[in-house]
This record gives sequence, structure tokens and C-alpha cells, in this order.
Amino acid sequence: MLIGVLALQGAFREHQWSLEKCGASTRQIRKPGELDGIDALVIPGGESTTMGKLLNDFDLMEPIKKIAGQGLPVFGTCAGLIMLAKRIRESQQPTLALMDIEVERNAFGRQVESFESNLDIFALGEKLYNAVFIRAPYITEVAAGVEVLAHYGEKIVCARQGRFLAAAFHPELTDDLRLHKYFVEEVANLSS
Ligand code: GLN
Repeated sequence: MLIGVLALQGAFREHQWSLEKCGASTRQIRKPGELDGIDALVIPGGESTTMGKLLNDFDLMEPIKKIAGQGLPVFGTCAGLIMLAKRIRESQQPTLALMDIEVERNAFGRQVESFESNLDIFALGEKLYNAVFIRAPYITEVAAGVEVLAHYGEKIVCARQGRFLAAAFHPELTDDLRLHKYFVEEVANLSS
């Protein structure tokens, strides 16, 4: 399986390492032509207004929307989650608008711009998942058909809608490969 990792900003190398440890091959994506032949796409964290602008500047926004609409599995983390959302609270910034969710950016306040928490993610087994949050968003609303995979307190921080997976935290920054493995094996491997 060949997984493209959007490489415009953020921890794309760490995502590549995690995916490769799960047995996938990876390719950095900076140009539309590099999307040809990939089986899935990962959108890393970063800053979502900048990422939206870069996606447009690099002519990637429409091609990604198109192939995702045709069934390409996509995994977005942190700013990548924001890029997947159809709605952002109090913002009109451009996104790929693939998941029927609403998100709030920078939702954990200034005191806790970065923190770690042990999450209970049923889909990943019993062992708690150590999640790293960095100026993280959270999901404020999900439509029917969106499966909530994890909460932090009352807040939704991980969800899946068919072939689209979104996490508010940074799975690429820890050694726990379970969420990447889940993407590679359960989401990206769905037979079409
Ligand atoms: N706060 C960033 C945004 O709104 C996301 C942070 C991240 O990706 N670590 O785009």
C-alpha cells in the first residue's frame, strides 16, 4: 500500500515513519501529479489557515477533494482534522470539507496549549492511548454516519466517517502506532 503524506508543513516525516513501521510505503505530496497512484492520504498538523492557503497555492485543494470524493481514504491529524471538516466555528477559511463535522480551533485555551492525556479509544483496544495535543481543535458536532472514536472529557477528539479518519491530537509524535495501524488496516484497506 502506498500512502501519500501531504508535505506542505508540519510533522510529515514523523507520519511517514509511523506509517512505514506499519508496513506501508509512503510518498511526500507537494504537487498534484504526486497524488497519482496513492492508495490513501495523510494530512498532518500545522496551521490550518496556512495549510488551506498552501493547498490552493499548490493546486492541491481541488484534486484532493476530487479523489477523496471518489473514495480515497484520508487521515487528518490536528490541523489535518480541521482540513477535513465541513464547518469551522466562526471561520470561513477553506477546507477540503470531506467529513460532516463541525470543529472549533484552538479549543483548549491558552493555559493548556499543549498537553498529554490518556484516552480510552475503544477501537484500539483496552490499553489507554497517550495522546499529545498541541493547540488542538475539537469536534463540536457530528452528523449521523460519523462514528465517534474518542473523547477528552466531554469533547470529541477522534472520529471516523467511512474512509475518513480525524484526530485532534498528534499520533505521529509518540511510539504508539495503533492509530496509524488502524488507518492502514481498517480504513485504508476497506474494499471498494
Ligand atoms: N491550532 C492549529 C490550527 O488551528 C492546529 C494545531 C496543530 O495542528 N498542532 O490550525
